[in-house]
Order: sequence, then C-alpha cells, then structure tokens
Amino acid sequence: MLVNAYGAHAGDKPLEPLRITRRAPGARDVQIDIAYCGICHSDLHQVRAEWAGTRFPCVPGHEIVGRVSAVGAEVSDFKAGDLVGIGCIVDSCKRCSECEDGLENYCDGLVGTYNGPTPDEPGWTLGGYSQKIVVDERYVLRIRHPAEQLAAVAPLLCAGITTYSPLRHWKTGPGKKVGVVGIGGLGHMGIKLAHAMGAHVVAFTTSDSKREAARALGAAEVVVSRNAAEMAAHAKSFDLILDTVAAPHDLDAFLVLLKRDGTLTLVGAPPTPHPSPGVFNLIFKRRAIAGSLIGGIPETQEMLDFCAERGIVADIELIRADQINTAYERMLKSDVKYRFVIDSATLSA
Ligand code: NAP
Ligand code: ZN
Repeated sequence: MLVNAYGAHAGDKPLEPLRITRRAPGARDVQIDIAYCGICHSDLHQVRAEWAGTRFPCVPGHEIVGRVSAVGAEVSDFKAGDLVGIGCIVDSCKRCSECEDGLENYCDGLVGTYNGPTPDEPGWTLGGYSQKIVVDERYVLRIRHPAEQLAAVAPLLCAGITTYSPLRHWKTGPGKKVGVVGIGGLGHMGIKLAHAMGAHVVAFTTSDSKREAARALGAAEVVVSRNAAEMAAHAKSFDLILDTVAAPHDLDAFLVLLKRDGTLTLVGAPPTPHPSPGVFNLIFKRRAIAGSLIGGIPETQEMLDFCAERGIVADIELIRADQINTAYERMLKSDVKYRFVIDSATLSA
C-alpha cells in the first residue's frame, strides 16, 4: 500500500513529501495508523548522514504512536482500535541470548525502525514520519495513557526508554544523587524519570534560560555547566551522571563530580568522538564511563506503564509535517521545550 511520508533524498537535501510502500500485514503483523511521531536528534544525525551508512531516500522517525488499523491472522494481543506505540526496534534475530533476555536492543541482528535491513521495498526500513507502519507484534507496545495525551506519549518511545533503562540499570532511587547533562528531548525525560524514581536530581545545562524550567521538570538543583564555581560545588558527590549531549565535549568536567564507584553513562551519540578523558580521574576513585542503547521491548513496556501510572508524558511542541526542516534548525540551537512532535494528520495535505 502507498502512504504519504516525509524524508530526504540525500544528506545535504531538506526533507520533503514522499510516497512510500508499506507491506500488507503478514500473519504476525500489526498495521498502525500513525497519529504522531516525535523528532529525535538521532533522526537528524541519520538523515543528514552524520553517522555512517545512511541509505536514501531516508524517512526518519522512531517515536511513533497511533491506533491499530489491521492485524494478521495469528495476532492475539492487539486488535483494531488499540492505542499502540513503536520505538526504535522493528525486528531482531529472536534467537540470541539478548533476544531471549528481552534485550533486543543489544541483538546483533537488531533492525532499526529506519535505515535497517528489510526485505520490504526499498530494502531498508522507513520510519515514522509517515501515515502508516506495519510491524511484527513482538515490537508493538501498548499505551495505557488517556488518548488525549497521545501526542505527548510519543517521545517516551525513544527519549523515555533511553533514559529509563540506564537509570534502572544503575539503580536510581531514594538516597541516590543523579545528574542529567543536557536538557533536550532525552535530558528532560531523564530529569522527570529520575525524580519519579525518588533520586536527588541535578540538571546540567549550557542554557541559562532553562534554569527555572529544569526545576519544574523535577530537578532539585540546576547547574550551568560553563560556570566553574557551580560545577566545583558538586565535586565527588554523584552516584550516576547521565550524559545526553549530542556534540563532543569535555567529559573530565563531569567525571570529577562522581563519588567513589560513580558512573558517567553516555547516551548522547555525537558523530565525532569526545576528547579522551584523563585516566587519573578514573583510577583514583574507581570511577567508570559506560554507555547505554535505548532499551529492550519488555523494559519499554515497563517504562510506558510506569509513566501511565504516574501521569508522566513529555513536554512537546506539536508541528505540521512542513515544519520539520525548521524544527531541525531549532533543535540544533536547543530552541525547543523539549521535543517536537509531528501531527501525522498533516501528512495527508
Ligand atoms: P536534543 O533534544 O538536541 O538535546 C541535546 C541537548 O544537549 C541540548 O538540548 C543541549 O541542552 C545540550 N547540548 C547540545 N549541544 C551541546 C554542546 N555542544 N555542548 C553541551 N551541551 C550541548 O537531542 P536528543 O534528542 O535529546 O538526543 C541527544 C543525543 O542522544 C543525540 O546524539 C542522539 O542521537 C542520542 N540518542 C542516543 C540514544 C541511545 O540509545 N543511546 C537514543 C536516542 C538519542 P542544554 O541546552 O540544556 O545545554
Ligand atoms: Zn531517538
């Protein structure tokens, strides 16, 4: 079936309206009429070919929410009309130990929602800046938020799980001091989630203008990271710092804020490496630098349910599809509080 989409034909070209093909649902497939799709900074990295291996045309989008419009004969958990979401994963090998553990995000055969290998036309997956998507039921998430919140639920599918998973893995909870670096799409969810888990949350920002807004998200303290005195006041005090920054920067400035055995977890994925951090900042306090990639399907459902029970959604700015290119420019200037979400109804125009 042909559907409307938005994508780019080359890394140096703007996104524009496209027509793409979706397969007819197979026995285990769920067809979704997309209502909203968030704009992740990864979409920009990929469609502008900042990361290696982008295939064109590229249709980004992996923060997808909508309603089921058809299901295959063997699908029993979903039916037409259900509110559902698709995140960053639409397939994996289903056989390896990572898949068996529900950590499909670490499967070597992971198929991303866009730019991943698929037998479907044109040979790579096309993402959620489109009217419909067809996905194996294993990778479909149930949304239990009220339907009125649907647009603001979309960013949970990537920004939510990418911060929830490391916060859980490094045991965020009462008595823990957690830093979140960068108050963008990921960072603002990291603040909300760490606060909801009971941690003392400190937000680090380069934008003085976000100081008050960060408190409203749940940060007990806000540090402007360019201010050396403000940074020094937090020396050797953090259990965990989650770094969501999309550009290379000095990691030592944050390493020295960790206490003994503290961890700096990188989730931001800049196209070029960070400068290598000083070894002495690691060995003297047995500190660690780690990374984390989105989250598996069971944990994504756990995160969605955690948020539904507590009324947690993203702070969003809803846009039309023809505003995507402008939204990218504003995202690069950190000029969004805190996630753009595309109203998929505007793709039909
Ligand atoms: P975003 O909305 O653009 O937020 C990034 C934030 O980082 C900005 O709002 C800004 O916050 C801060 N920042 C930007 N440039 C900076 C610089 N040069 N120096 C210091 N701070 C800077 O992006 P996002 O969608 O949250 O994504 C962030 C990164 O995570 C991207 O690289 C994306 O590809 C990656 N990502 C990784 C995963 C994963 O699984 N690991 C998943 C999704 C996304 P302030 O204004 O507060 O300073
Ligand atoms: Zn993303």
